[in-house]
Amino acid sequence: MRIAVIGSGYVGLVVGTCFADTGNRVICVDVNEDKIARLQRGEVPIFEPGLEELIQRNVAEGRLFFGTDIASAIKKSQVIFIAVGTPQDEDGSADLRHVIAVAQAIGTHMEEHKTVVLKSTVPVGTNKKVAAAIAAKTRLTFDVVSNPEFLKEGAAIDDFTKPDRVVVGCSSERGRKVMEELYAPYLRTGKPLLVMDPPSAEMTKYAANAMLATRISFMNEMARICDVVGADINQVRKGIGTDARIGFPFLFAGVGYGGSCFPKDVRALVQTAREHGYSPHIVPAVERVNEDQKRLLFAKVQKHFGEDLRGRTFALWGLAFKPKTDDMREAPSLVLIDLLLGAGARVNVFDPEAMKEAKRLLGERVQFAPNALGACEGADALLLVTEWSEFRHIDLDELKKLLKQPVLFDGRNIWDAERARAQGFVYHGVGIR
Ligand code: NAD
Repeated sequence: MRIAVIGSGYVGLVVGTCFADTGNRVICVDVNEDKIARLQRGEVPIFEPGLEELIQRNVAEGRLFFGTDIASAIKKSQVIFIAVGTPQDEDGSADLRHVIAVAQAIGTHMEEHKTVVLKSTVPVGTNKKVAAAIAAKTRLTFDVVSNPEFLKEGAAIDDFTKPDRVVVGCSSERGRKVMEELYAPYLRTGKPLLVMDPPSAEMTKYAANAMLATRISFMNEMARICDVVGADINQVRKGIGTDARIGFPFLFAGVGYGGSCFPKDVRALVQTAREHGYSPHIVPAVERVNEDQKRLLFAKVQKHFGEDLRGRTFALWGLAFKPKTDDMREAPSLVLIDLLLGAGARVNVFDPEAMKEAKRLLGERVQFAPNALGACEGADALLLVTEWSEFRHIDLDELKKLLKQPVLFDGRNIWDAERARAQGFVYHGVGIR
């Protein structure tokens, strides 16, 4: 099939490249000229494991293209994926400006029937709005299919090519057939393609993210209770995760969730519900717990060192909102850095992949270390924010020599508290005895 993917970010690039890899001819389009120029030169603007090789292979084999000419991409494609950003608006709702702009462009430039696929995360009712925006510009026929994406940054290619399920919100037989054909190579293991009405497909994405965010906030709240009652969240996690009704995924306590999806999607869901006259209870609490949790490590630092942190230096490991990505959108590290700087501290930071993005966001406000241990030289304590695997097995003896004081704040509970304490460290975890 001839496919256009409009919006070449974390989602658009992965979706476009994977569809090219199953033999389709794909053009990825973006308004960001610099991004497209880099892609045309063979540079991949984001860090996503495996993506660079996959892009190179499909470009070399003449199936994957990049461009800024949206009109021509629309004209030449049978299927058009909308994968532009849907950032948070001022009131917390999803800003649909980019989605609607693309819909209008499709209506303006299409010259034959098109299947338009909404890949961006959009509130219930957007499928209808997109259809109306296209219809306002053309008399030609088209289908609008809602096809929310469930990939995770850091494992995006695997998630896309081995989905648990594909959700398709579609009211036309023709649209459903196109989706079945496109996804067939990824569903050979028998995982389902679930066809539902568009509002249910749109709602499924928000319900999934809200459920996952709820599990995180729930465990963070349990960890806070563990902290005050003297229980250990890791033991509790094992105790409840083994219950088949609960299971282990998303049960890790930490310093809160961030990223480009959970925070904005949780807020947008609340907004959508309120716009329709229902005021939810659980979902806003999930957000409040998370905001609080992002400040937890700072509270622990102040409890240990006192409120005034002037003259103190802290090493901070992990800037990306989670491992295996360079994405820092709504990263807990940003909140912690602001708080530390606000209290007068100096912060030495290190992240395996997000240093460039961090320099863009933080400029001269922090010190960028050349490697993890380098950040610890002369620091009063080490604060772990993102659990990159390379931080897991640290040489505690070496670390002790570098730090001014042997103090660890483990924001993701990745280190063995007992071992650290046995080696003379003061260890602070999240809900850890
Ligand atoms: P992103 O910011 O990385 O990429 C969006 C791209 O769209 C940008 O490159 C931007 O320049 C481009 N764009 C904006 N307006 C445009 C226009 N009018 N024409 C062409 N290009 C335009 O965002 P992302 O992380 O890829 O997310 C895209 C959507 O997918 C969002 O709705 C997001 O919620 C959803 N989503 C994201 C993830 C994730 O892990 N990142 C997972 C599932 C769903």
